[in-house]
Amino acid sequence: MKVLKFGGTSVANAENISKVIAILQQESKKEKIAVVVSALGGITDALIKTGELATLKDESYIEVFENIRERHLETIRLLIPKGKAKTVVKTVEAKLEELKNLLHGIYLINEFSNKTRDKVLSFGELLSSYIISEALKLKIEKSSLKDSRELILTDSIHTNANVKGKETTSNISNFFKKNKDKIVVLPGFVSRNKAGETTTLGRGGSDYTAALIASSLKASVLEIWTDVSGMFTANPKLVKQAFPIEEISYQEAMELSHFGAKVLYPPTVQPALQQNIPIYIKNTFQPKDKGTLISKKVASKNGPVRGISHIENIALLTLEGNGMVGVPGFSKRLFSTLSRAEINVVLITQASSEHSICVGVFSQDSKLAKHILDNEFAYEISLKKIKPLLVEDELAVIAVVGDNMKNHQGISGRMFRSLGQNNVNVRAIAQGASERNISAVIAHKDIKKALVSLHNRFFEKQIKTLNLFLVGVGNVGSILLDQIKQQQEYLNENLLLNIKVVGVSNSKKMIFDEEGIDLMHWQELIKKGQPRTHQTFLERVKELNLSNSIFIDVTANEEVAKTYASYLKESISVIACNKIACSSTYKSYNELKDLTKRYGASFLFETNVGAGLPIIYTLNNLINSGDKITSIQAVLSGSLNFIFNNFNENNAFAEVVKQAQDEGYTEPDPRIDLSGVDVARKILILAREAGYKLDLKDIKNEAFLPKASIQAKSVSEFHKTLKANASHFESIYSDAKAKDRQLKYVAEFNKGKASVGLKAVDKNHPFYNLEGKDNIVLFYTERYAEQPLIIKGAGAGAEVTASGLFADIITLGRN
Ligand code: ADP
Ligand code: ASP
Ligand code: MG
Repeated sequence: MKVLKFGGTSVANAENISKVIAILQQESKKEKIAVVVSALGGITDALIKTGELATLKDESYIEVFENIRERHLETIRLLIPKGKAKTVVKTVEAKLEELKNLLHGIYLINEFSNKTRDKVLSFGELLSSYIISEALKLKIEKSSLKDSRELILTDSIHTNANVKGKETTSNISNFFKKNKDKIVVLPGFVSRNKAGETTTLGRGGSDYTAALIASSLKASVLEIWTDVSGMFTANPKLVKQAFPIEEISYQEAMELSHFGAKVLYPPTVQPALQQNIPIYIKNTFQPKDKGTLISKKVASKNGPVRGISHIENIALLTLEGNGMVGVPGFSKRLFSTLSRAEINVVLITQASSEHSICVGVFSQDSKLAKHILDNEFAYEISLKKIKPLLVEDELAVIAVVGDNMKNHQGISGRMFRSLGQNNVNVRAIAQGASERNISAVIAHKDIKKALVSLHNRFFEKQIKTLNLFLVGVGNVGSILLDQIKQQQEYLNENLLLNIKVVGVSNSKKMIFDEEGIDLMHWQELIKKGQPRTHQTFLERVKELNLSNSIFIDVTANEEVAKTYASYLKESISVIACNKIACSSTYKSYNELKDLTKRYGASFLFETNVGAGLPIIYTLNNLINSGDKITSIQAVLSGSLNFIFNNFNENNAFAEVVKQAQDEGYTEPDPRIDLSGVDVARKILILAREAGYKLDLKDIKNEAFLPKASIQAKSVSEFHKTLKANASHFESIYSDAKAKDRQLKYVAEFNKGKASVGLKAVDKNHPFYNLEGKDNIVLFYTERYAEQPLIIKGAGAGAEVTASGLFADIITLGRN
């Protein structure tokens, strides 16, 4: 036997009730069913309203009553064919008449006691169950209606009655033993006391009715059909990202519902737990959705936190004073006073100094609580041993729940850090001894922010956004933008990195978009951009004030290099392929390094040496792990390697240089490569990163260019001098060839001294076979003393340089 319960929304109107009937037709094929139904959605609230208006002698109560009447009659009209509706309408009208008389009585005597309230409210479920059972009979002959008040016996605490378990269980099991129908419909929520008067089980109590029936019958399953697809990780109406929890333990479900997950009335779990009956939460409107299974032992899927819930309208009562310290009995008096007044305590915390006790109660009870507690402690207050009760209102409790939280460290740390980071002030904290929940009292206005941020912290992928500001969109810069565009989705999914290009600038214009520049159309956009200077670009980046901002310099411009310090001082990291900053004076190099430490920003420049090859990365790892560099030998100029590999008796030196420049293998000004300055800068950077204090002037540079080329005033003049001095280069080439040697432009660092120059290396040298525009670096260290650590590969070219910059971006993203 199965028990199904359908809530208010599920039976709100004829259309929804038809859905319920379709589900019942399907389900009853397999097993006998007890169906518990709520009042039509909103009717319980309307009944309360009409009763309250009547007590206030407000005649508009009749209007509210008429609405209630119309809703029921309309439902019958739409659900039951005319011919058969007559008797149903008659019965319902008779019941409504009874209700009307009751309301008139309230109106006359001006009183709406809890006892009367129960009577009035019971009409909701009594009417809905009757109408639904009549509609069901049209489809399933063997179906009937049973008034739950004849089965569920309670005490006389009206509006929130306590069930007498024994009698109730035997009533239910006796009834169902005799009943032979396929489906029995029962009203939820309603019950009776010994005197036969109507009582109710508390708001939301139909869930409990169903649980009582399920446990009495030892049902195979209890299904709570509602308007959401299960118990969610947080209230789906407030947290868009919440999702249904597939499985949850009885205890977790109890905690979540106790702390406000309205989808399940808290007392519902206990009876099911006792008989180990699985509870399913299902969606009437998406019956195929899996829903939530509540059962005994459940594997943890999404980490130790199972759900987050909250209770609104909380007031915090604080009893405080030196007179409480070490004196037993204060808390006993506090709680028994509250209990005598039937005030429900939602949360308790006490500081270990015993100097104060804090309890959370519902706001509606706070006035009464203040009154009775100040009375109870009047004597101590008069002696100034304790202070009058402090009441803070407009608060809420937020609770993080999970059976497994006790086995994990740092959950409360994460919870409170997350609240703190989002500026949510925590007024009080409680953690149950079972460590199944951690709860905090916060301001009512912060509920949504707190729920969303905790949900994000515990249930959502932690995606990190990097905000990039890129200067220089020549060859390398535009390829980098292409690579980013192509990889954005991959990085989002695999590294949880959201890479946003927020600012881009060329030498004339700049564009910004906080949501991320459209990388399909940046070329057109930048044409319409604002005019820029280094300073205005910097100001705009500062103004945007985005977390994880990164400034990327893809120029070879000295003025841009001078702005790095200003970025670092704003805690904005800098990535540069521009070598100028790292190869200027040692003092300014060192200042930038200091700024990174002081402002928690990074300064990465992997592409300064060997384009995309991980040379500086490897060197840093050696040093950081305690190794010491003894010597470095390297071919660090892809351009010069390309030039000397292609220069021979058939290809004139000047031609090869021109080709290298056209293909982007040289700096925009090829003199920087051919003079050896570029290589000198690179070995300088390596030496500095290896921990040596060196300046460019300390590096020996043996030039191979003729004087005229060194002195050339412009790039075009420089090309002319190369042509004019062809024989100078030819003789260098033929000398090497005669000895079967290869020309390589080599950088060396040894015992603190560095040099660069053109060398003719013989067949046995590791540089002899270095091809194309490749680079090679040999690191000799204390650990790599005999055989060097070698890094070799393409050391120039826009594609690999862009990917080296990209690697630096990803390194920062993963920090
Ligand atoms: P019914 O009328 O079917 O008993 P309720 O209104 O009592 O339905 O409960 C369902 C509602 O509970 C949902 O519509 C949702 O707004 C609310 N709710 C609050 N917290 C949760 C949660 N953690 N998971 C699912 N629903 C929740
Ligand atoms: N109709 C009652 C209420 O609205 C009981 C229930 O629906 O569970 O509280
Ligand atoms: Mg409910």
